[in-house]
Amino acid sequence: MRTKVVIVGGGPAGMLLSQILHRAEIDHVVLERQTRNYVLGRIRAGILEWSSVEVIRAAGVSTRMDAEGEAHDLVNLAWGGEHVLPIRVKELTGRQMMAYGQTELQQDLYNAADDNGTSLLFSADDVAVNDVTTESPHVTFRHNGADERIDCDYVAGCDGFHGVSRAAIPEAERTEYERTYPFGWLGILSETPPLPHLVYTNHERGFGLCSTRNPMLSRYYVQCPIEDHVDDWSDDRFWSELSARLPGEVADRVVTGPSIEKSIAPLRSFVAEPMRYGNLFLAGDSAHIVPPTGAKGLNLAVSDVHLLSRALIAHYRDGDTAHLDGYSGEALERVWGSVRFSWWMTTLLHRFPDMTDFDQRLQERELSYLASSTAAQASMAEQYVGIPFANPPEEE
Ligand SMILES: Cc1cc2nc3c(=O)[nH]c(=O)nc-3n(C[C@H](O)[C@H](O)[C@H](O)COP(=O)(O)OP(=O)(O)OC[C@H]3O[C@@H](n4cnc5c(N)ncnc54)[C@H](O)[C@@H]3O)c2cc1C
Repeated sequence: MRTKVVIVGGGPAGMLLSQILHRAEIDHVVLERQTRNYVLGRIRAGILEWSSVEVIRAAGVSTRMDAEGEAHDLVNLAWGGEHVLPIRVKELTGRQMMAYGQTELQQDLYNAADDNGTSLLFSADDVAVNDVTTESPHVTFRHNGADERIDCDYVAGCDGFHGVSRAAIPEAERTEYERTYPFGWLGILSETPPLPHLVYTNHERGFGLCSTRNPMLSRYYVQCPIEDHVDDWSDDRFWSELSARLPGEVADRVVTGPSIEKSIAPLRSFVAEPMRYGNLFLAGDSAHIVPPTGAKGLNLAVSDVHLLSRALIAHYRDGDTAHLDGYSGEALERVWGSVRFSWWMTTLLHRFPDMTDFDQRLQERELSYLASSTAAQASMAEQYVGIPFANPPEEE
């Protein structure tokens, strides 16, 4: 089999790239290791930057997002069990966020692939990326018990942090930067109405977050020891811990209910450079991970796909390879911006095991500075809502 682009990984990055390439009539195949239901069962991100909304709209997959997603124009920071500071993102930047679950976006992308007749193979085992520095890259894998090979011009490595694409870049050719954080996030989903706005809270008991998926689906998190197991956390324990970390007036408005999903996620910052090696391009979590505090992971995947799809389209339409050559540098510029912002929010809002009273005072002072300075709020708002692309996508 031969195609132009093999996309390894059918998560949000891989499927969004597929959708954009389909519209540009660029032949491609998507290989996904898991089943469709498994991918759709993963509960992950939920907040889209406005730039991501624009990319999804321009890709022609926004009908349900526009109908069911909820625009959010502010985010609250709370601390000390009493202060609540609204960061009025729209007022400060002219842009806002969209609450729309990653699972919903993934579903929309799979539905579009069905309509497009995309070559999308689930349960593809033993995927290996070969000869990417030659004129004849190819990908091998097992599917339905048979060994398969696809020759291609380019491989897009969209296979997440645990995929095989990044490892296809020899260690001597890549540099990895990493920080792991000494705690995790215990998250629950509950079929209860969320608070009207997101609330991030800094408390001496630890961080907490009230987030949303849709008007009858809430997502809440509390910082927990990374060694904890979900069985340690009954729903009652979760709700009372969250409540203890929120200012009373916020806690009183949280509608509790049984959890329908509960999981503990580790927090990590990770970047692999470069994001191109020969004819292999990395996009999304295969190249970088951020702690979820800044709500950037999915948005970075969309950002990479925007830049990579534009580069591939310029190459196939106009024979222009400048964007392919510039992809890694341009993508990494945005990646490090989000890595820095996510680290900053994580550092500002969490309780670290080795924190002293000095560190505690610094956090409190930074939060009260934010409360007193419109310039500081504007800086946070600009990064939270996402830095616009130099060349935004053209909406239809
Ligand atoms: C528990 C959790 C909670 C998160 N919460 C948030 C959040 O609140 N906000 C936020 O912005 N981000 C969050 N993220 C991050 C966000 O979900 C990711 O950044 C996003 O999924 C990245 O998309 P991706 O397509 O690059 O990678 P993935 O979603 O990881 O998709 C990669 C795909 O490749 C497939 N794959 C892997 N290996 C192979 C292989 N060898 N062959 C073929 N296919 C393969 C995988 O099965 C997967 O479907 C969270 C992540 C996790 C894990």
